[in-house]
Amino acid sequence: MQGRLIAVSNRVAIPTAGKVAGGLAVGVLAALEEQGGIWFGWSGKKTRQDPRDPVLETRGRITYATIDLKRQDFENYYNGFSNNSLWPLCHYMLGFFSFRRFQYDAYCRVNELFARKLVPLLEPNDIIWVHDYHLIPLATELRRAGVTNPIGFFLHVPFPGFDALRALPPYEHLLRSLSSYDVIGFQTETDLRAFQDSMGQPEIGGRLLTDRRVEAYGRTFQADVFPIGVDVDDCRRLAAKNLDDRRVHRLTDSLRERKLIMGVDRLDYSKGLELRFRSFQRLLKKYPTNRGQVVFLQIAPPTRTGVRAYDAIREDLERTSGNINGRFAEMDWVPIRYLNRAYDRGVLMSLLRLTDIGLVTPIRDGMNLVAKEYLATQDPDDPGVLVLSTLAGAAQELTGAVLVNPYDREGVADGMQQAVEMRVGERRERFQSMIEILQRNDIHAWCSRFIESLQRAHATHG
Ligand code: ADP
Repeated sequence: MQGRLIAVSNRVAIPTAGKVAGGLAVGVLAALEEQGGIWFGWSGKKTRQDPRDPVLETRGRITYATIDLKRQDFENYYNGFSNNSLWPLCHYMLGFFSFRRFQYDAYCRVNELFARKLVPLLEPNDIIWVHDYHLIPLATELRRAGVTNPIGFFLHVPFPGFDALRALPPYEHLLRSLSSYDVIGFQTETDLRAFQDSMGQPEIGGRLLTDRRVEAYGRTFQADVFPIGVDVDDCRRLAAKNLDDRRVHRLTDSLRERKLIMGVDRLDYSKGLELRFRSFQRLLKKYPTNRGQVVFLQIAPPTRTGVRAYDAIREDLERTSGNINGRFAEMDWVPIRYLNRAYDRGVLMSLLRLTDIGLVTPIRDGMNLVAKEYLATQDPDDPGVLVLSTLAGAAQELTGAVLVNPYDREGVADGMQQAVEMRVGERRERFQSMIEILQRNDIHAWCSRFIESLQRAHATHG
């Protein structure tokens, strides 16, 4: 590729010693290391004054360019519109949805600020890749400032169906903003179809030129599917490297040959954790031979603390796990171990490797990287079983998993029991079918496919 890659996301993850970034950060970093370029976004600092120019820090071929945000703007743009309007809307959870005009104004203002601070850093051959729902209007702001470079957008979360989308008062403005990009990437075919359907509504007036090209608001652009992957080799390497870690030993020693079921999620209502706990309770009731024989470990660090809905799930889960443990625990066995904290990525990968059943049951998820990380860490000769929600984007690729509907506690309990009883031959077969897909569509393939598509779209139509 000629020219630099300019990656833009809400938050910039500058790698620090001992701390390794999650899926998106790994992918963006890999692409930036290969092409050289800039990662632009929020520094994580909130200020009282108007933000200054970006702070630049160059390491190897990557320059990290970060800006601070005014405290009030951040509250309204991030906690407000991004996480109280767009996040629940995109996850079809209108019960959590709210809309405030002043929060939306802050969202537009922060996007305009991002564009204003980014423009002076741009060069004519750069290609720009914008990530996620926090930054939908960014391309429009960049175009308004005269930027003609290729600009792509990837949506990490689901794209809602039109009937949900139109609950958002400024939905038309967001669709118009999306049409300023050259390529729009989605996680799954379902998201792409929902987007095409919205664009084709009479009041929007867009039309499909081909299966993957849309014309709307006087522009044509590419809209396509790019399922995000994981760095399979790195997950495997980390899992092997950390098997001797003290924390990993403590877990294996304490299990004493019992089967381990594990969930790893941010503490978020879209992850369906309370339903998951209740499904596990159902397993213990319906299949009592599991009592004393299986342990369910849920790792769920709090996020977005201070947002009411998030504080509430934390309390609900503490109550539910306490309740289940109170009913089923024995002298030497506690059924649910609920850990409310983040773990070092290396340790997490080793824990996943030791897990007999990876339990991934979000009630809605754009992709779900934990499902893919779980598979990537497994021993091919004796792999564990992935129990996966049909409502996670990952289910569209990982059809060899035991697929369950997270709302159906009975069904999830049956799925877990099927996994508990599954013989090694079937486990291997299912694993093989999925690991091949994961390797083919790993995080590096995801990056190169998106960037190539952006260059092609711009060269042909830009
Ligand atoms: P989301 O982006 O909605 O949080 P994903 O499953 O797609 O969900 O990605 C979550 C990422 O965060 C994964 O890479 C996962 O390994 C990491 N992660 C989740 N929980 C923890 C935890 N407790 N400690 C460390 N990393 C975590």
